[in-house]
Amino acid sequence: MDDARSRQVVIAGAGVAGLTAALAFSERGYLVRLFEQAPRLEAAGAGIQLSPNATRILRQLGVLDRLLPAAVRPEAVVLKEAATLRELARVPLGEAAERRWQAPYLVAHRADLQDALMARLAEQPDISLVTGARVGGIAAGPRHTTTTVEIAGKTIEADGFLLIGADGVWSAIRALGGFAAKSRFSGELAWRATISADSVAGEALAAVGAADCVTAFLHPGFHLVAYPVSNGTAFNLAAFTRGEIIAEGWSGRADPNILAGAMRGTAAALARLAEDAGPWTAWPIHTVDQAQPWTTPAGIALIGDAAHAMTPFTAQGAAM
Ligand SMILES: Cc1cc2nc3c(=O)[nH]c(=O)nc-3n(C[C@H](O)[C@H](O)[C@H](O)COP(=O)(O)OP(=O)(O)OC[C@H]3O[C@@H](n4cnc5c(N)ncnc54)[C@H](O)[C@@H]3O)c2cc1C
Repeated sequence: MDDARSRQVVIAGAGVAGLTAALAFSERGYLVRLFEQAPRLEAAGAGIQLSPNATRILRQLGVLDRLLPAAVRPEAVVLKEAATLRELARVPLGEAAERRWQAPYLVAHRADLQDALMARLAEQPDISLVTGARVGGIAAGPRHTTTTVEIAGKTIEADGFLLIGADGVWSAIRALGGFAAKSRFSGELAWRATISADSVAGEALAAVGAADCVTAFLHPGFHLVAYPVSNGTAFNLAAFTRGEIIAEGWSGRADPNILAGAMRGTAAALARLAEDAGPWTAWPIHTVDQAQPWTTPAGIALIGDAAHAMTPFTAQGAAM
């Protein structure tokens, strides 16, 4: 294999996993071609939690300093009973977390993390990012893999010793690469709303005591997680209920009666907050069986949600 090809990595998908992997490979001297199907990498998604296992890596990659101005360092994770708003438990974060784990616990808007990763990527001449580029085929050779990419109605081929499928929970690479793992609907729906801190809903949230913390309101068959994003100017609300499968995607719609029904019996202040915060978007929570292989001998590897999408209940989706 010629020298350039033996150092060439091809990555499908420029989400959190693909962008991070591109930076990590480039730092180790590899050439990276990164293909993203979306026409532009624009602000998409809502809040994500970044625990110290993730922020430590962002620091190593030169990304953390770019993220800090937009991120929030919550003081604690607080668990409350949704019916009474009684505090059940509190895990200190803030400086305590940083002292303990030598890296901060942060909450941020997904778009701010993506911007910070992109800003660092722009400084790396060995990474080429092409948007509007959908990976649609793979031919695995003995020593390198040829990836077929569709760009503006044309098809190009990209060779590399390694193809990384970072194309998310509904990964095409998983099927194209012959991986046994499949994504499976978990039976849960996630509901999302982002509210401005100075809106009626923002004030309602502050009134139930969640302004500078990650607060989880717990109820049988329902929970709601709230935390500040965008330097504290907005709050991310994510609620979880059982539900029927809805279309794949991160900003879908589901019957609001499911959410209202799941919240029956929660405190009136919380029900009002949910009403003021709407309209809610929804996504179907899928998981990928982590016991299955995520690499092949032919030089294809899955990472991120493509490899191990998980329910978001330990707030590790973005970190992993
Ligand atoms: C638009 C969007 C909004 C999201 N919003 C939230 C949110 O609000 N809250 C939350 O907890 N999580 C959200 N997520 C998921 C969250 O980002 C991931 O769970 C986590 O960060 C793991 O990231 P990932 O890079 O593995 O996957 P993803 O972030 O899903 O990134 C996968 C990327 O691969 C691209 N892609 C897919 N197929 C191909 C292909 N064939 N060729 C080239 N590119 C391809 C996708 O366009 C996407 O950019 C969102 C993801 C996306 C894409």
